[in-house]
Amino acid sequence: MFSKILIANRGEIALRVVRAAREMGVATVAVHSTADSDAMHVRMADESVCIGPPAGTQSYLSIPAIISACEITGAEAIHPGYGFLSENAQFVQVVEDHDLTFIGPTAEHIRIMGDKITAKDTMKKLGVPCVPGSDGGVATLEDAQRIGEEIGYPVIIKATAGGGGRGMKVAKNAAEMEKAFMTARAEGKSNFGNDEVYIEKYLTTPRHIEIQVFGDGKGRAVHLGERDCSLQRRHQKVFEEAPGPAISPEERAAIGKTCAEAVARINYIGAGTIEFLYENGEFYFIEMNTRLQVEHPVTEAIFGVDLVREQIRVASGMDMSFVQEDLTINGHAIEVRINAEKLPNFSPCPGRITQYHAPGGLGVRMDSALYDGYSIPPYYDSLIGKLIVHGRDRTEALARLKRALGELIVDGVDTTVPLFHALLEEEAVLSGGYNIHWLEHWLETNLGDG
Ligand code: ADP
Repeated sequence: MFSKILIANRGEIALRVVRAAREMGVATVAVHSTADSDAMHVRMADESVCIGPPAGTQSYLSIPAIISACEITGAEAIHPGYGFLSENAQFVQVVEDHDLTFIGPTAEHIRIMGDKITAKDTMKKLGVPCVPGSDGGVATLEDAQRIGEEIGYPVIIKATAGGGGRGMKVAKNAAEMEKAFMTARAEGKSNFGNDEVYIEKYLTTPRHIEIQVFGDGKGRAVHLGERDCSLQRRHQKVFEEAPGPAISPEERAAIGKTCAEAVARINYIGAGTIEFLYENGEFYFIEMNTRLQVEHPVTEAIFGVDLVREQIRVASGMDMSFVQEDLTINGHAIEVRINAEKLPNFSPCPGRITQYHAPGGLGVRMDSALYDGYSIPPYYDSLIGKLIVHGRDRTEALARLKRALGELIVDGVDTTVPLFHALLEEEAVLSGGYNIHWLEHWLETNLGDG
């Protein structure tokens, strides 16, 4: 086991890693920008190093600064959290070149899954069901039009390097193809420096279902069921739950087995998420995330495991602490993402927290780096907390969520908390009968967001 690890991240996820490491007796090094000198992750870690000015590109994304921080402090491994450098294959290569350990998959796995065409092709070969569409990249408008006719409209044109909901355009019919094709290519080029695109059938009422997988890098892998993350705004998740209200135990066992076998065959190491769209009882692969997800706590709640602890274990060469047969579901968990944003437009709302009170009690977990008097800097993501509740069943979890939201106090900035109070009055949320478009429609109707 490592004696010291460095956490190349900030906010709640940096705290999350400190907590797991401390329970394992592993010392932690926080890194921070000058804007984060007073941040909670700096206060909670055993040591800290300032790695640059506020801009992410000059601090949390600066590979030389992070490697230097490791060398100065004698940290042996780096946990990347999510976002920032967590899916940067070049970073992983540099980490390995410096004889340090990356707590996550190999550079090769990140590279394969980071390119959506290669990822889809790989998954298809591993027996994972995919959305019908083009065989690889589509180079010309003529090809795109031909494929549109073949698979039938509507279709979605996606940049192979896309992410975060960017570089995707829907064409409802042949007339819309030219514009959608050109725009997806242009967005791919300007955002990700790669204009290659591919085409998929556009599913009209799917749910977003993702399977948590975990590998030991020695050919063994397990799955930890699914999360339903269908409640999204602009392709960003806002409310996640596990197990998925629409997924039967038989479906879970079958798709889970397919996913675990797929990652075992490629010797995957660490945590990964295989994302699917789910419609009419069928799963369609869309992408794999080679890191810990924001919403991992709902899985931890129902399986009673610590995924960060497992990540650190397998990175140090140890085995996972469980096998598939140990993993049974207990109850239901829901997470809501609390962002410092002003409704109805969700505009970022950084500023000083005048009062903070976290909810507690049975089945309540608040992952947040807030404290009284903390100033949320304007430079980073607006996620300021995740409220996770766990109950014996979905009904209990929903009641607990309502109760916990009522206890939460975040004064001084606007947050997305009122959205969740309102959603908990909605029949579609209470019954679990929503799909990936439900929230967008609701926001348009109720808040005029659109
Ligand atoms: P990103 O990497 O940008 O997050 P994804 O491929 O994961 O892109 O897709 C993000 C979201 O876009 C999905 O959760 C879903 O809402 C929508 N989407 C993607 N592919 C399709 C499709 N074939 N049909 C319908 N919606 C889709």
